[in-house]
Amino acid sequence: MDVSRYRAETPGCAEVIHFNNAGAALPPAVVVDTVVDYLREEAVRGGYELAAATRGRFEDVYASVARLLGARAEDVALADNATRSWQAVFYALRLGPGDKILTCRSEYASNAIAYLQSGARVEVVADDATGQLDVADLERRIDGNVKLISMNHVPTHSGLVNPAEQVGAIAERAGIPFLLDACQSAGQLDLDVTRLRCGALSATGRKYLRGPRGTGFLYVHPRLRDRLEPAMLDLHSATWTAPGRYEVDPTAKRFEVWERNFGITLGLGAAVDYALEIGLPAIEERVRVLAARLREALGALAGITVHDRGARKCGIVTFSAAGLPSPEVKERLAKAGINTSVTHRTSAQYEFTARDLPEAVRASVHYYNTDDEIDALVTEIGRITAAA
Ligand SMILES: *Cc1c(COP(=O)(O)O)cnc(C)c1O
Repeated sequence: MDVSRYRAETPGCAEVIHFNNAGAALPPAVVVDTVVDYLREEAVRGGYELAAATRGRFEDVYASVARLLGARAEDVALADNATRSWQAVFYALRLGPGDKILTCRSEYASNAIAYLQSGARVEVVADDATGQLDVADLERRIDGNVKLISMNHVPTHSGLVNPAEQVGAIAERAGIPFLLDACQSAGQLDLDVTRLRCGALSATGRKYLRGPRGTGFLYVHPRLRDRLEPAMLDLHSATWTAPGRYEVDPTAKRFEVWERNFGITLGLGAAVDYALEIGLPAIEERVRVLAARLREALGALAGITVHDRGARKCGIVTFSAAGLPSPEVKERLAKAGINTSVTHRTSAQYEFTARDLPEAVRASVHYYNTDDEIDALVTEIGRITAAA
């Protein structure tokens, strides 16, 4: 991989050591230029006029996202974040008391809150000995009341990769919809919806995909789509065909709304194309190797505990320092020009409670990070903990 080229194409690499890629990665210049150029042109030509003149470019964004996921463009919807995409499917399922939802222990706060709000019964599948979702426990819990299997591929707060392919195969055999939150895996792992066998998949643009903030997307399998009417519709997701009638859009666009930010939508397309050109298998491999190097170096530091578990791990590295609150470690790293973040209990109550985890520092690596940057991070953490 030509890392020096990708760093040269990323203005932020010259400014900061960025290990907050699971929060928002540094975008390549082509993403920023695409957005800014479009906004400038919109200002002088008119928003509707420019959109009409460049219609094909927007259709290309659907095609790019489809290529990223191994899907068809008509099965892709675009949104302003991952949460809205996920909610569009979840609330269309109209689950309630008497229904059962199976999820994973590492589940994300926004998803869990929606489960609770629905009134359905939530069952948290156990972890296996490696720390990933236990597929045998999942299978045991399936009965006639289970209406949804829903989980994250990669959680927000650790380096775990859940066995999504195996879960997808179980869901398919049981005929239960499988909703996969791929927010942290899109852009760092090679995704393929046929292999994942998910009914729906949601993801965001700003994290590992390096897209603009305020972008997200959704894939929905046609079989699931055809039986789901979104909880909210507008004149884009449906057509008012007669005074007393409407028809829902036949494609995944039924999960969208009409108004959007066209400039950042094109920026998302540029980010996806950039990732595809490098190749997701190559990105996945480099991220895995860099993260393993960081975990190993941190594990060798006195007073540091690494929290990541799982048979398969990815680019998110989480740790805490004995006697030092994680927000303080993060602040001191920031003063040294190193970006990290802190994971909180309120992001993942099931797992924080079950494992009695402390708030942890999250250092999420991307392919544009270097061995030197990892060494700088580890040296700085060693300095901070030695002084404590
Ligand atoms: C960030 C995140 C989300 C939410 O994504 P938004 O784009 O902020 O809506 C959902 N799930 C996981 C696991 C995340 O890390």
